[in-house]
Amino acid sequence: GAEPRTARTGEPRLTVVSGPSGVGKSSVLDALRAQEPASEVYFSVSATTRAARPGEIDGVQYHFVSVPEFERMIADGEMLEYAQYAGNFYGTPRRPVEKAIEEGRPAVLEIELQGARQVRRAWPDAQLVMLLPPSWEELVDRLTGRGTEPADVVEKRLTAAREELAAEPEFDATVVNADLQSATSELLELILGREQ
Ligand code: 5GP
Repeated sequence: GAEPRTARTGEPRLTVVSGPSGVGKSSVLDALRAQEPASEVYFSVSATTRAARPGEIDGVQYHFVSVPEFERMIADGEMLEYAQYAGNFYGTPRRPVEKAIEEGRPAVLEIELQGARQVRRAWPDAQLVMLLPPSWEELVDRLTGRGTEPADVVEKRLTAAREELAAEPEFDATVVNADLQSATSELLELILGREQ
């Protein structure tokens, strides 16, 4: 059943954090997790078909699943949203997010743009936050990195970043990641709904 879900008054909110590759989403989210007691904010753990990177633990950074298992989850309506990114599937298990909101905890998803757009439709009350680089030049520097990537790979990343940034008007709020600490506290205010 793909009934759009709207919040009852006073319910905590679902916040989606998105932004171009290289903007520092993971660093900001890691900092948030470190400073926020687990009891309050629920950080969604996505399912993905990509291989775990060294140091990643199943059930912590992601639920690492096979393609058939991912397809089963979609077929059984277990995904709040899902998308293909760089050749792999990524999706948000729906039930833990609903459970957190029912329990009165704000929930946070860190996902890419196609997923953010699906959440907008499936959960109209969700708050979409885009994390922005301090400047385009800064993002180019971060994506170009140490100059070890082939030019066509860098060009693909820059094109993807340009597309993500162009979606800014679809978002409810933006946070500029110039300084990790201020970006983290601005985002936390939005998540907890204490802005203004
Ligand atoms: P990575 O493979 O580097 O961990 O993630 C690649 C991209 O997938 C990132 O932009 C990340 O935000 C996005 N992503 C992670 N989990 C999900 C998810 O559940 N759904 C969607 N749509 N994107 C996700």
